[in-house]
Amino acid sequence: MRNLEIFEELKKYMPGGVNSPVRAFRNVTINPPVIKKGEGSHIFDEDGNDYIDFIGSWGPMILGHNDEDVVKAIKAMVDNALSFGAPTESELLLARHMVNTLDNIDMVRMVNSGTEATMSAVKLARGYTKKDKIIKFAGCYHGHFDGFLVEAGSGVLTERIPGSPGVPKSSIENTLIAEYNNIESVRELFRKYGEDIAGVIVEPVAGNMGVIPGTSEFLKGLREVCTEFGSLLIFDEVMTGFRVAYKGAQSLCKVAPDLTTYAKIMGGGLPCGAYGGKREIMENLSPMGPVYQAGTMSGNPVVMAAGYATLTKLYNNLNIYNYIDKLGNTLQKGMEEIAKEKGISLVVNRCGSMMTPFFTELKAVNNYEDAKTCDTALYGRFFHHMIKGGMYISPSQFEAMFIGAKHSEEEIEKFLSIMRKF
Ligand SMILES: *Cc1c(COP(=O)(O)O)cnc(C)c1O
Repeated sequence: MRNLEIFEELKKYMPGGVNSPVRAFRNVTINPPVIKKGEGSHIFDEDGNDYIDFIGSWGPMILGHNDEDVVKAIKAMVDNALSFGAPTESELLLARHMVNTLDNIDMVRMVNSGTEATMSAVKLARGYTKKDKIIKFAGCYHGHFDGFLVEAGSGVLTERIPGSPGVPKSSIENTLIAEYNNIESVRELFRKYGEDIAGVIVEPVAGNMGVIPGTSEFLKGLREVCTEFGSLLIFDEVMTGFRVAYKGAQSLCKVAPDLTTYAKIMGGGLPCGAYGGKREIMENLSPMGPVYQAGTMSGNPVVMAAGYATLTKLYNNLNIYNYIDKLGNTLQKGMEEIAKEKGISLVVNRCGSMMTPFFTELKAVNNYEDAKTCDTALYGRFFHHMIKGGMYISPSQFEAMFIGAKHSEEEIEKFLSIMRKF
């Protein structure tokens, strides 16, 4: 079957033909290619089209598709183990590697997705502090957990959904919204509700309203105010962990969160997530403490093997981060130059290998309100042009594009030469 035929069939059996909304490409009004195979920086669809992939499964594929070491580790595990729901050595390898190589992680709990990691971290923060309110930032996305589906980024922003039907008011009455990169907006909430605030959750480099790095003043301010009020600082590094640097965004801003959430890259292409932090906090989790969180498939041996192979490969080849940063820099500078030549107003935000070209008249994009000024129709035309040229980029203005270890200088130049014809 070919792309269109499969997608038409998919729509009969699954809402919108997809299992996650952005994949449907609805806001750019084309049918998404149906992907058959990946190899390195390339993906191939059912019609035989070859794309250079700048989505990378929305972040996880930093080593490229079907990395030989990750595939080898998965195959070796599959021969012996699929799932036991029991302790395995594969969990030890990954958990110990994470604790030993990351900062601010004394213990971890494995889960199956980023959503699960953030909702569990928030529950732990509430259980530990015995407080209920959580501050999140407009435009930040932490998964599809009820309490966070207010002014969220990613698909919620792309589809212009203000909140979500199905989320009762009671689920969000303890969610307070502050403005990203505006520490005063956070202090104001603390002045009003300080005694009831369990924690602040933030993407230290936002990726789900397009890429917007948190300023170091902002992130340091969050640390200060949380410490002052006895609230926990939760860094959602589901996207940025092992991406903007091996040790994540917290190593760039040098701010130590109390809890950190991971997913995406740490699963090596399989469904995975984790949260971790200070021992004193983590020991409140059941079975040691009273905060209950569980999962039949959590710590699955095949997933653990994929994650371990990915993280050890990254850790043993840290020069990868210099390489993808350099490619990112070339791409950013090139896009800025082309936009200038063509008289297109464009702001390109980047942190290492994750970036977003914002089609806005503004001089800088620092928060959700800024991001919303973008000309999404123009972005849509840009998307159509690029995908016709074989460049698989996000169908939404409000997502990141990613560069991985298998991309080459030539592929970045190719992207720019196609953009030059836009
Ligand atoms: C992707 C993402 C999530 C959700 O992760 P899922 O695995 O899709 O549930 C949460 N937080 C951030 C910052 C993300 O980028």
